Amino acid sequence: AKGDGRGIHRFFRDELLVGAQSRKQLEDDLRNALASNQFYIVYQAVVSTRSERIVGYEALLRWEHPTRGLISPTDFIPVAEDCGLIEAIGEWVLRTACIEAAGWPNDVRVAVNVSPIQFANAALPAIVTSALAKSGIAPHRLELEITEGVFVDETATTEQMFRTLKGCGVRLALDDFGTGYSSLGYLKKAPFDKIKIDQSFVKGATIAGNRNAAIIKAIVSLADTLGMETTAEGVENHDEVTLIRELGCSHIQGYVYGKPARAADVLMHLAIADGM
Ligand code: C2E
Ligand code: CA
Ligand code: CA
Ligand code: CA
Repeated sequence: AKGDGRGIHRFFRDELLVGAQSRKQLEDDLRNALASNQFYIVYQAVVSTRSERIVGYEALLRWEHPTRGLISPTDFIPVAEDCGLIEAIGEWVLRTACIEAAGWPNDVRVAVNVSPIQFANAALPAIVTSALAKSGIAPHRLELEITEGVFVDETATTEQMFRTLKGCGVRLALDDFGTGYSSLGYLKKAPFDKIKIDQSFVKGATIAGNRNAAIIKAIVSLADTLGMETTAEGVENHDEVTLIRELGCSHIQGYVYGKPARAADVLMHLAIADGM
């Protein structure tokens, strides 16, 4: 009957049921996705503010679901992390990105996102070393992007992992900087080569009186002092490019330089830029 609340209660229960079913379905579909070649990588250019040249690309995972179409990584990565599939998927991204980057000029890097769950696995350095060896790219061309999530259950192993990965010769970037907790302590402990300033700070930074510009400036000054590079993320227009340059960020990433592209398109672009 209307008004007694049962209708609403029932609505929520059915919603949860539907949610749980599609979640289980999503997990099953994810399990099948690697074997069925439903994943591919798109690459987004990272541009030097000084030279205005592309210095590298970030690998971003895409899942073309057979019936649901393209599913966003923000929707399926957390599911993959929950159901234990992120390790296999993350390893595929790492190996594929290194192999695709092997066709690029020697001074162009590739950045790969690493989930905190992969980071907590002692096998990660061996996987990284193997991906480098199989692709033949030099270790310094590979940058691993890590979020503050790796510090949540911080142990001696966390610090050891940073040292081991640096020992492999790869670069380390702290991703989404400023969106987690007490980030400053991490900068002291971990040997990052780069800080990626989250796009939420870039948004609105061009508006006079906006505090974001002051925050970006402070992050850049800190990074400079610590000898780290800075990438401003989510830069969408030329006003933002101008400001980011003024604020001293060493690198820019964002739609202003185009949407992320498939490997074949990146290769073509690089070949043209190289005058081949
Ligand atoms: P992220 O690592 O912070 O990647 C940047 C995201 O911002 C990407 O979204 C990118 O397409 C988007 N972006 C780039 N430029 C602009 C811009 O100018 N404006 C706006 N509004 N957005 C921009 P995407 O590809 O949907 O990825 C979302 C997140 O999913 C990533 O955030 C990352 O956390 C995660 N992710 C993607 N690929 C992988 C992967 O291979 N492994 C793991 N563990 N996570 C991944
Ligand atoms: Ca990233
Ligand atoms: Ca980011
Ligand atoms: Ca992000």
